[in-house]
Amino acid sequence: MSPYLHFGHLGPLEIALAVNAAVEKDASLSHARDSFFNELIVWRELAVNFVKYAPNYDSDECAEPWARQSLAEHFHDRREWNYTLDQLERGETHDELWNASQLQMVRFGWMHNYMRMYWAKKILEWSPDPATAFAHAVTLNDRYQLDGRDPNGYAGIAWAIVGKFDRPWFDRPIFGKIRYMSAASTGRKFDSKRYIEMVRE
Ligand SMILES: Cc1cc2nc3c(=O)[nH]c(=O)nc-3n(C[C@H](O)[C@H](O)[C@H](O)COP(=O)(O)OP(=O)(O)OC[C@H]3O[C@@H](n4cnc5c(N)ncnc54)[C@H](O)[C@@H]3O)c2cc1C
Repeated sequence: MSPYLHFGHLGPLEIALAVNAAVEKDASLSHARDSFFNELIVWRELAVNFVKYAPNYDSDECAEPWARQSLAEHFHDRREWNYTLDQLERGETHDELWNASQLQMVRFGWMHNYMRMYWAKKILEWSPDPATAFAHAVTLNDRYQLDGRDPNGYAGIAWAIVGKFDRPWFDRPIFGKIRYMSAASTGRKFDSKRYIEMVRE
């Protein structure tokens, strides 16, 4: 839905009324409707409010104090991988799953929400500092996603890289208390081998 919402082809009210009409015909859909509305209304409007009221919505400056402090404590941590914007853009990292998501975005203008989270978190892990990571994620997201240049994109990147709308997690290198996602856990959520092959085809 997001490209259609982004360009105004569809409005959230029209979608919400159609979903409610479907639930009236089949009450078993009500649980799915509730979680869909959580995204369509709660998360989407949170993002709209975020870019309206937070002047630094498109940089790491929008971090909450806990996240800012925690990332600062890990500023000098050694980065095992450090990729330039060009390397990221071409999907030339050591991580096949990440490369597939990047190439999917470049070729098709699309990435599933779960992969978007992983994609942005790895950019934090592989960049010299959080400010550069944030800037690279915004550049790539806005250049290639069909739904890019949207409040949801800035909020999503802020969530992944500086913990916006999230809570402190366990302290670890580079990330500090920002929530971490591993390739192993991400790859288990779906048929990631098939996904990597599909993007290459
Ligand atoms: C790093 C990162 C970057 C992102 N970049 C963008 C972007 O550039 N443009 C964009 O529209 N969304 C972005 N998102 C949010 C989300 O991934 C997409 O809105 C969603 O994947 C779109 O798929 P869909 O329309 O099938 O969603 P559905 O699950 O069908 O949800 C319907 C609608 O609800 C809204 N929605 C769903 N999930 C979210 C969410 N997490 N936050 C805010 N609104 C949500 C969207 O408007 C979406 O179209 C990003 C998320 C992350 C973590």
